[in-house]
Amino acid sequence: MKIIKEIKKMQQIVANLKAKKSSIGFVPTMGALHEGHLSLMRCAKKENDVVITSIFVNPTQFGPKEDFKKYPRNLKKDAKLCRKVGVDYIFAPEAKKMYPEGCKTYINVEGVLTEVLEGKIRPGHFSGVCTIVNKLFNIVLPDKAYFGKKDYQQLVVIKKMVSDLNMPVNIISCPTIREKDGLAMSSRNTYLDPQERIKAGVLNKMLLKARRYIVHGTWYVAKAKNMVKKIMKENNIKLDYVDIRDAENFETVKFAKKGCVILLAARIGKTRLIDNVEVNKVEKV
Ligand code: AMP
Repeated sequence: MKIIKEIKKMQQIVANLKAKKSSIGFVPTMGALHEGHLSLMRCAKKENDVVITSIFVNPTQFGPKEDFKKYPRNLKKDAKLCRKVGVDYIFAPEAKKMYPEGCKTYINVEGVLTEVLEGKIRPGHFSGVCTIVNKLFNIVLPDKAYFGKKDYQQLVVIKKMVSDLNMPVNIISCPTIREKDGLAMSSRNTYLDPQERIKAGVLNKMLLKARRYIVHGTWYVAKAKNMVKKIMKENNIKLDYVDIRDAENFETVKFAKKGCVILLAARIGKTRLIDNVEVNKVEKV
């Protein structure tokens, strides 16, 4: 496994791989790797000749008051994990190389998809995500790129960008990997103190409870949302949002149906966590 820091060098390697007709699987990450990231890499390994992962804490997707500076960084530890799952190349460029002075081009997916939920609370976030993913795709030229459902809205936004811009890459979505108590694995979980960590387990339980409500007949979305809000309040957890949306276009739905997704964002102490569950069937009882 090689760690590549220079953009030109990465492009040369990619050109050689393309000449040999090797298929390239790509896993973009911000590092501080955990089992969630590794599951994407394992999947990429199965489906491609070569796996490239990027480790880059992307400044343009963080708001001015967010955790860009304190975001965990440990390339040495990450590299060990990547080697273990068979990654061939880590691309870890410096921020000033990815965004040299005078950079003026940004990608914006317009409309509901980027205006609600994460897009509303984190203005500019999806523009930063789309811009970096676009730049990375242009450098790595992957056949397939792997994204987690953990960041559901991000996944849908990227699929839309790839489709709208006719980008020649297959986006593969992978399931959310969780801790034993259901908490979605996240690099930000390391911010939680032991008491907060216990509390964080409530988030997924809430989503599953809301889904049970829906699947067993409480298909009126407002009722399921109110139930989540009430229990969050009882647990002293500050909700940024809980919502039930069409999983493809993120339009609101009044009555839950198959193909919806229940999403929430909450703050536990100073840590902001997101999670979601898909609604795969709805039965009226
Ligand atoms: P990040 O490093 O947080 O930008 O995440 C990089 C990729 O890993 C994104 O596609 C995430 O959706 C995915 N990811 C993060 N956490 C998980 C998880 N618990 N399960 C599956 N995928 C994840």
